[in-house]
Amino acid sequence: MAKIILTGDRPTGRLHVGHYVGSLKRRVELQNSGEFDKIFIMIADAQALTDNADNPEKVRQNIIEVALDYLACGLDPQKATIFIQSQVPELTELSFYYMNLVTVSRLQRNPTVKNEIQMRNFETSIPVGFFTYPISQAADITAFRATTVPVGEDQLPMIEQTREIVRKFNQVYGETLVEPEAVIPENATCQRLPGTDGKAKMSKSLGNCIYLADTAEELKQKVMNMYTDPNHIRVSDPGCVEGNTVFTYLDAFCKEEYFAKYLPEYAGLDALKEHYQKGGLGDVKIKRFLNAVLEEELAPIRERRLELGDQIPEIYEMLRRGSEEARKVAAETLADVKRAMRINYFEDAALIREQAERFANK
Ligand code: ATP
Ligand code: MG
Repeated sequence: MAKIILTGDRPTGRLHVGHYVGSLKRRVELQNSGEFDKIFIMIADAQALTDNADNPEKVRQNIIEVALDYLACGLDPQKATIFIQSQVPELTELSFYYMNLVTVSRLQRNPTVKNEIQMRNFETSIPVGFFTYPISQAADITAFRATTVPVGEDQLPMIEQTREIVRKFNQVYGETLVEPEAVIPENATCQRLPGTDGKAKMSKSLGNCIYLADTAEELKQKVMNMYTDPNHIRVSDPGCVEGNTVFTYLDAFCKEEYFAKYLPEYAGLDALKEHYQKGGLGDVKIKRFLNAVLEEELAPIRERRLELGDQIPEIYEMLRRGSEEARKVAAETLADVKRAMRINYFEDAALIREQAERFANK
């Protein structure tokens, strides 16, 4: 069976370092591994509109931001098809049929949806489109016959929901759809990177992000203001590394070589943690180190992003071509789905013949 990747992001803002470690970095590695037959990367504007219906301009503006982030990180349109969700209307049609295979109570039990409803203070005024977005996500994944979906940990319930829809569809209508698998980062910290405020998840909607496009100055300011251990007041105080965002980020980004370069007096991250826990290591020093580490990782992305700034029309053209290609593939799957559901009336000569015989004057 062909190995196919589908994944994507909502254009609700620029991409941040949580996206980078959670999904983007892995995508680029998988893209360059040569192990995949096809790679589809989707800018999920239609999904973004499910909770931004009153602000389509935000979504419209952020499509190019996300595309720039992709290219700056190393996604390559020669190797991956990058497209815009709304330009592939077949996805909407698939969702419509999948909706009949999912119950309201199953959607209500989806932990990510539950969590996001709470986060957005929807209470009982949840837009129907938002409530059903796991179904639309199943359409996105299955339309491309994706086997592999590289995502952050918050997306696991979505992939599980997709797998259920696939099984249900295949059981009712015959073997048609492919069951995908999620690929999440091995490094637990990267599966769900917290925000700079220490909150559970860095998220565009929470305003606690370090963006890939941040300038060196913005990055430094965010790092220097980062949440650490509130009880670590004097340098001599023993400090806590668990739940300390600076150490969490070091867990996600630090490489051995950065110690040799910036903190040669420490053997590695464990030695640094030990010193902090014992007392005698100040927040400013660890923050400066983290800033240097992040600068190493992000400066090349930032620079590439700046260079791409004068190729905007070409990037839209790339997205147009990608959307066209994606549309072809999704249309094939949709045709298979309709055939399986037996709602392909006009290509069904046997049906027309049968009906003709039934009604013919005998
Ligand atoms: P929004 O607040 O609009 O939902 P978001 O920041 O959650 O935005 P998404 O576009 O929903 O971003 O997520 C895109 C991908 O990035 C998903 O695979 C998701 O799992 C991953 N991701 C998002 N935030 C993080 C994070 N903090 N740590 C790890 N992965 C993340
Ligand atoms: Mg999200």
